[in-house]
Amino acid sequence: MNNLHSWDVLALSCIDGRFIKRTIDWISERADGTFDFRTEVGSSKVILDSEIDKERFFNIIETSLKLHSIKEVWLIDHIDCGAYGGSKEHKNKDAEKQFHIEQLNKAAAIVKEKFPKLVVKKIYVDWDKIEVIE
Ligand SMILES: [Zn+2]
Repeated sequence: MNNLHSWDVLALSCIDGRFIKRTIDWISERADGTFDFRTEVGSSKVILDSEIDKERFFNIIETSLKLHSIKEVWLIDHIDCGAYGGSKEHKNKDAEKQFHIEQLNKAAAIVKEKFPKLVVKKIYVDWDKIEVIE
């Protein structure tokens, strides 16, 4: 039997309450029900825009590695994120999604550089669907 305190995923999501239950349900279905979960204002934004918040998240990754032997970090951005100014900052939904894909790509590269052995997944939460960005 596997160590009960070992699982694969640490997820980073925004604090926005409109998306939390759906996001957690979605992760749970795909991560065998157990995972580490961190919320930050703007999710990818803390990795890109704040050295202090980035280091704090890196400390959480280190802890998840040490205590739970995680293998993957899932970075989860969402539509209409207030930390990024919301949907009104973009000319349409596609432009908004593209913006988040770029942010997630940059954030994922930073995490990957620091933790090369971890798989980093990028995920975008829309109003009606959640998708993994390839
Ligand atoms: Zn948000």
